[in-house]
Amino acid sequence: MAFQLAFIERVVRTPTAVSYRFSRPPGFSFAAGQYMLLWPEPGGSLAHPLSFSNGPQDDFLEFTKRMTGSAYCQALESLQRGGSVTAKGPLGSFSAESGSGKIVCIAGGIGITPIRSILADMAQRLDPRPVTLIYGNLNESDIAFAVELDGLALPNFRLVHVLQKPDGSLKAHTGLISAEIIRSEIPELATSTFLISGPPVMVKAVEAQLASLGIGPEQIRTDRFLGYA
Ligand SMILES: Cc1cc2nc3c(=O)[nH]c(=O)nc-3n(C[C@H](O)[C@H](O)[C@H](O)COP(=O)(O)OP(=O)(O)OC[C@H]3O[C@@H](n4cnc5c(N)ncnc54)[C@H](O)[C@@H]3O)c2cc1C
Repeated sequence: MAFQLAFIERVVRTPTAVSYRFSRPPGFSFAAGQYMLLWPEPGGSLAHPLSFSNGPQDDFLEFTKRMTGSAYCQALESLQRGGSVTAKGPLGSFSAESGSGKIVCIAGGIGITPIRSILADMAQRLDPRPVTLIYGNLNESDIAFAVELDGLALPNFRLVHVLQKPDGSLKAHTGLISAEIIRSEIPELATSTFLISGPPVMVKAVEAQLASLGIGPEQIRTDRFLGYA
């Protein structure tokens, strides 16, 4: 069933990523890693799936969109405080729940959104499992949630940046996320659970790299952001 979400504010994350926050309706709950279908114009026909980018414990709902200049982005950008969007959900089952051993999150660009929700949730619950995030971006200024991830109060958390065109201001691997980088950063390959999120091409490439490292499909969970190349 679709319902209305009241818009609160926008938060600019990077030059090409903006978060939109909405009031949380009474009694509404979601699991970290899920998404909603959002219609930015009530009564309009244009909907896209957007993942929650905040933890389920917050008293607001947050979605973070890669700005592409599309009609959908323009409709989001014209939201005013007191306005609303139509929403349906929560939907999806991308999750770190029941993953055994080490959790390895691999995010490509805006694919960070459900992973940021999962990590915020794990931090809130003081989840003791070791977690490594391998986070691929174009460059330093393109890293959404850089400050939040740096300050994440998760006891066993490690953040590995992979940048295609680094300016050198951050410790990072250069290039695209590769089997070599994964092998060098994750000694516990055989006992880890892998959560991959990003554009379909990126998810497919990382799945192939994990396969080349002997990681079976039973160790892998994916969230494909259809709509991006
Ligand atoms: C489960 C899920 C979660 C997602 N979470 C996020 C998120 O948190 N942040 C984010 O920025 N994006 C997310 N996306 C992608 C998002 O829904 C849009 O598809 C994407 O942002 C492109 O929309 P646009 O308005 O920028 O461009 P548009 O111009 O609207 O779309 C670009 C092209 O892709 C096609 N297209 C758009 N959406 C889809 C679709 N769902 N399936 C197939 N083709 C499509 C359009 O027809 C167009 O040709 C998610 C997608 C999925 C499936």
